[in-house]
Amino acid sequence: MAEVIDGKSVAEDVVQKVKALTVELSAKGATRPGLAVVIVGEDPASQVYVASKSRTAKECGFHSLQHTLPAETTEAQLLEIIGDLNADPAIHGILVQLPLPGHIDAGKVIQTIAPEKDVDGFHFINVGKLGTGELETAFVPCTPAGSMLLIERVRGKDLSGLNAVVVGRSNIVGKPMANLLLAANCTVTIAHSRTRDLPALARTADILVAAVGRPEMVKGDWVKPGATVIDVGINRIPAPEKGEGKSRLVGDVAYADAAKVAGAITPVPGGVGPMTIAMLMANTVASAYLAAGLKRPSF
Ligand code: NAP
Repeated sequence: MAEVIDGKSVAEDVVQKVKALTVELSAKGATRPGLAVVIVGEDPASQVYVASKSRTAKECGFHSLQHTLPAETTEAQLLEIIGDLNADPAIHGILVQLPLPGHIDAGKVIQTIAPEKDVDGFHFINVGKLGTGELETAFVPCTPAGSMLLIERVRGKDLSGLNAVVVGRSNIVGKPMANLLLAANCTVTIAHSRTRDLPALARTADILVAAVGRPEMVKGDWVKPGATVIDVGINRIPAPEKGEGKSRLVGDVAYADAAKVAGAITPVPGGVGPMTIAMLMANTVASAYLAAGLKRPSF
């Protein structure tokens, strides 16, 4: 059976390190890290994410600011708030929770965030830095950055020559994931809905990342024996066995079968999921170090 990669425990390690770095930063006389989270509207899932981000920021010792704005907030009002946060020296990270209401252009909002405070890593400057290998100053999107830490826990930092297949090409997961694996010297293939014979391609992967959003799509016989399998997917499916109207979370990988073949695998929940918020904290503390003219801490 595969080693189960415990994302909860790795995420906790990251948070502990962020706390220690925050204490060190204050000891150096620098401003403590500040994270501003902006949410527009009443989407319940977004409210839960935002509350969790703000709570973890406080736990890390950050200055934590939350703007909760009504759904009818105009794009101009939101851009003005971002402009103020860009100019505020107490804030090192700005996160605008997506999705935004339809009348607001999310792309425009993201590109208004100062790149050096873009701790989600979605600004073109950060995307370009990752694409060109400028990892010292880039902010990398949190989910792929966290997935990479999990891979390193199993395989070490040097992934030279390993075959990696990333299933999914979204801007927030698939593409940045592929760029991180490329920067670590993997031979990378990005698969998507038009890929031919995906099972055969997946079987070439020493590192297989699934970021698709389709419950248990990646089957056990798609996995190369000994491969490291990272399941980014979070899908809620009906679970009548738990009672009427009940549901449960599954990933994009058929876990029970894949775990019989893989060398190591992330569970869902408890794998990649907890890493996302932890890496948001890591990016914010890194931003505060860079703002203070100090060397960027690594994770
Ligand atoms: P997305 O934007 O919907 O992208 C999905 C990708 O999967 C697309 O590139 C799509 O290909 C590809 N795809 C769809 N059906 C496919 C098929 N049958 N065969 C091969 N590829 C297929 O999704 P995302 O935002 O990247 O998220 C992916 C999953 O990760 C979701 O389950 C999401 O909930 C989860 N997620 C988790 C976290 C976390 O753990 N914190 C964070 C973000 C996302 P095309 O480009 O050709 O359409």
